[in-house]
Amino acid sequence: MDALPGLAFTPAVGDHAFSAKQRALLAQANELGRERFAPRAAQWDEEASFPFANYEDLRNAGFLKLCVPESAGGLGADYATYMMVAAEIGRFCGATALTYNMHICSTMWTGVLADGIPMTETQRAEHAQRRALHFRRVVQDGAVYAQPFSEGSAAAAGRAPFGTTARKVEGGWLVNGRKIFASLSGAADYYGVLCTEDKGDEKPDARDTLYLAVPATSPGFAISGDWNPLGMRGTVSRNLSFKDVFVSDDEQLMPRGVYFKGAQTWPAMFFTLAPTYLGVANAAYDFTVQYLRGEVPGEPPVKRRMYPTKQVAVAQMRIQLEQMRSIFLRSVLEARPNPSKDERMRLYAAQYTVMEGANDIARLAIRTCGGQSMMKHLPLERLYRDSRCGSLMLPWTAELVLDRMGRETLYEAGEKDE
Ligand SMILES: Cc1cc2nc3c(=O)[nH]c(=O)nc-3n(C[C@H](O)[C@H](O)[C@H](O)COP(=O)(O)OP(=O)(O)OC[C@H]3O[C@@H](n4cnc5c(N)ncnc54)[C@H](O)[C@@H]3O)c2cc1C
Repeated sequence: MDALPGLAFTPAVGDHAFSAKQRALLAQANELGRERFAPRAAQWDEEASFPFANYEDLRNAGFLKLCVPESAGGLGADYATYMMVAAEIGRFCGATALTYNMHICSTMWTGVLADGIPMTETQRAEHAQRRALHFRRVVQDGAVYAQPFSEGSAAAAGRAPFGTTARKVEGGWLVNGRKIFASLSGAADYYGVLCTEDKGDEKPDARDTLYLAVPATSPGFAISGDWNPLGMRGTVSRNLSFKDVFVSDDEQLMPRGVYFKGAQTWPAMFFTLAPTYLGVANAAYDFTVQYLRGEVPGEPPVKRRMYPTKQVAVAQMRIQLEQMRSIFLRSVLEARPNPSKDERMRLYAAQYTVMEGANDIARLAIRTCGGQSMMKHLPLERLYRDSRCGSLMLPWTAELVLDRMGRETLYEAGEKDE
């Protein structure tokens, strides 16, 4: 692909008038990805093991603190910059990008996103004090945070309170419950758990959602279950259980009730899984071009580019990739608290377009390159499997996005049929 002024490559998000900081971070992500992550990607996939070596590289590059504000010792990347960098990482290792998202969100939601969520002065002061602890852990100790929300119920889809509960006790909370699909299980130092405040006899209410960091060493905390999925195998997303796990008040990642407001105020917080898959789509496209030109390292230099059907397929892939990049970038750049209805619809459309499009491009890539391209020593079949996982991520699965868009188009807030 063409280079942009100041960059020796076209980023996965496409070209754009990047800031100097974005260009520097993208260049660093591209180098890390190309030189370190891509050569290791097959190993995590084959073993379904966590990419610890990549995390060491991310830590050394300062990328674990990417979204920690500069005032707290971080790199101070905003939402858009993170989304651009994440897509670049996803281009080289999907599992690394997806798990990196879980970690980064723990700092971004508590950081720049929380700044745009309404809070009382007391809550704001409490939050400032508590997030300083989490930022310090990431900046000074290189700590990694996971983000286990899913429970196998309607909760992660935003349709019911979380079944995992936290009961107020002296100095902190007692957490009980279970999470499934916890990426970074066994690799994270802290698990940012969403749970519902247990208020005794009162009916559980999603407005009482708490966001607590559970240290991996907590008594009563356990990891269980096998992990042998189709794709994104390096995420190691096993089950977690919490049996009377005590966490201190300081482990609150957001003040009581603020997560619920945040989810309503900042819908783009749920779009952060998409860049991984935009990266995967770029990788499938890049591979196809290289393969048809007979330029894949280690493969016979057989050219297949002269067949018109292949040229058409590559054009189709590029058209879809450009559509994905355009709507992705627009949604990322306009993301803000309380978006307009059009912005929200576009955000849903962007999520759907990227998640389904990544799998479309990977499917076309295999069909176009042909049988020899899907051998295990080449990345394409892994990209194909990884790309299938994007539409399954709650709360914005492809199905739920369609559901929301249809409903929110036909019904204004509060409208009901008689
Ligand atoms: C590789 C990978 C990594 C993951 N990592 C994490 C992680 O780190 N943290 C985390 O919290 N989760 C994670 N998840 C979980 C993910 O977000 C979903 O929770 C999970 O895929 C849901 O699986 P399920 O079978 O329980 O879905 P179900 O809840 O059974 O839903 C199945 C499908 O039904 C639809 N559906 C669900 N609820 C409704 C509803 N109320 N109305 C209409 N349709 C509905 C959706 O389209 C959904 O895809 C990960 C998933 C994958 C594949």
